[in-house]
Amino acid sequence: MTRLALKGLVKDYGDTVAVRDVSLDIAPGEVVCLLGPSGCGKSTTLRIAAGVERQSGGSVLIDGEVVSDAERHEPPEKRSIGLMFQDFALFPHLRVLDNVAFGLNGHSRSERKRIAREYLDRVEMAAHADKYPHELSGGEQQRIALARALAPKPRVMLMDEPFSGLDNRLRDEVRDAALSVLKQEEAAVLLVTHDPEEALRMADRIALMRDGKIEQVGAPYHIYNNPKDRAAAAFFSDLNVIHGSVRSRQTDTPFGLFLTPGLVDDADVEIIVRPQHLRIDLDEGRKPESSARTGVAAPGTVQRARFMGSESLIEVSMDHDGSVLRATVPGVFTPAAGERVWLSLKRESCHLFPCAAQSKVRSPYVHGDSAST
Ligand code: ADP
Repeated sequence: MTRLALKGLVKDYGDTVAVRDVSLDIAPGEVVCLLGPSGCGKSTTLRIAAGVERQSGGSVLIDGEVVSDAERHEPPEKRSIGLMFQDFALFPHLRVLDNVAFGLNGHSRSERKRIAREYLDRVEMAAHADKYPHELSGGEQQRIALARALAPKPRVMLMDEPFSGLDNRLRDEVRDAALSVLKQEEAAVLLVTHDPEEALRMADRIALMRDGKIEQVGAPYHIYNNPKDRAAAAFFSDLNVIHGSVRSRQTDTPFGLFLTPGLVDDADVEIIVRPQHLRIDLDEGRKPESSARTGVAAPGTVQRARFMGSESLIEVSMDHDGSVLRATVPGVFTPAAGERVWLSLKRESCHLFPCAAQSKVRSPYVHGDSAST
């Protein structure tokens, strides 16, 4: 069942095309994060779903009913949506309880207060019902804003960077609280964020957006581990890029051969590997044994190593081409600059793509598709 459906949305502002053919279905109780860099069209998509902006093409449906298309355009207040923005201010002159009760039309006064109290309870703010917004911290105000948005039981909840005004520690706490309340409701949630960590943490599905288009949609685990291209992979973490070229349907690299059937000889291939998927061994006078899992080890020299809190980051200058690869390992591991090491790749976590300049086609060579050495 689909609660919110966006179908072929297009939005242009004169020469700027902000949204190009965006389609997305969200089920009741599902949290979908629209993730992408600033300016890629996330907020415009959300504003169209809300009805505060009208699309140039396409339609918006809620529970199968068209709320906006070329002929028809229902205003936000008729759509049964809850809205939450980073700066979605509470009414300063109203107490917390009245702020939450504000949008509850069609109920008696006492019933409005009862519902408001129930939602304050859900966000663990019942004790603050009689305070004014300025007496609360930023995180507490966000909880109230969430309670206020949810109290009318909207069918769709639209959230635009709702947590970005909070500092790190508070943000995690408020995010977790929000997620647990959202999960109790049957609203379809569309949450806009530019923060990949937030999307990974909150989303049932992530829709990765770039240049006005949705490039890839999937569960966080899937989209992190099966990026459709280098840019999609780069969105979630720092990357190492290792270059190789094709010989007889295999790509030859200093880390061994990778199977790449279908690519012609001399084609350039990029092997993408995240820092945590490099293995690093101190040089003990002999080359580590190669294996099907890690291929061949390649030698290099430590340039710099830093302890980062829960992990260490080691930058290694590679013998074969002088490129610098970055490896992270859990805990404390800080070899001195100049120390000789061997790097190998956790092959099941590598992604192979034909070089962007040669082909924009999605690579068929995902992790695991590798020759051993
Ligand atoms: P995001 O939310 O991903 O940062 P937006 O949806 O806000 O991106 O913007 C997408 C593009 O549309 C940007 O190039 C932005 O400058 C443009 N844009 C957004 N709103 C307007 C507007 N009201 N008038 C003109 N251009 C706009």
